[in-house]
Amino acid sequence: MGLLVGLAIGGTDGETGAAQLPSADRSAALTGAGPPVAATPTVLSSVGGSDARWVALTFDDGPDSRYTPEVLALLARHEAVATFCMVGDQIPGNEALIREVAAAGMALCNHTSTHDLELPGRPLEQITSEIVGAQRDLAAVAGASVNYYRAPGGNWSPTVLEVAATHGMQPIGWSVDTRDWTAPGVEAILAAVDRQLQPGGVILLHDGGGNRDQTLAALEVLLPRLVEQGYRFGFPAEVPPSA
Ligand SMILES: [Zn+2]
Repeated sequence: MGLLVGLAIGGTDGETGAAQLPSADRSAALTGAGPPVAATPTVLSSVGGSDARWVALTFDDGPDSRYTPEVLALLARHEAVATFCMVGDQIPGNEALIREVAAAGMALCNHTSTHDLELPGRPLEQITSEIVGAQRDLAAVAGASVNYYRAPGGNWSPTVLEVAATHGMQPIGWSVDTRDWTAPGVEAILAAVDRQLQPGGVILLHDGGGNRDQTLAALEVLLPRLVEQGYRFGFPAEVPPSA
């Protein structure tokens, strides 16, 4: 049975299509889901602890018309899934791409409307509109629920966590910081994964926000390497997928 994390609580969050549920076990998601696990106001940074050999790939700051399709193609080639943390401001012009990400069985994650790094210091009204507004907009375009939230810059606060969880989004962090957004070189990105990844880890990568050629090049090496190391690709979760 696939684990469903932070299943959106309906209403304005768009259709809850079974194929789009954030389950690492896609066949289970297609054939019927277990009880949804409520989102908690804590930062989740694993694929269900450290016992099982699962890994969660996450891509932030997209969608990006140049890089997101290339990431999708690479994931498909290696039968991998990933979580895409999207920025609301980048929806216009990328609607079809967002639907493609959801239809490919990827999990959608909300990365706010404007990628405001100072969000924790803003008034509650602004925090809510950045988080809930982006969730509504992404879900409407994707035709799928948005069950995760990641704070821009990893800048959390109790209020941010609470707003996200209250609206059915599990806050997610990472355990492997590749710093790919600084364009440190392909080898440095790969070395960061080698150094930091443990079973159950969540890897932070970027498919938007700048030139991502190094991320793509690293991914070409990383995906087959992870498969060779026995990793399976899942989504952030409280307990390991049982597949
Ligand atoms: Zn970001």
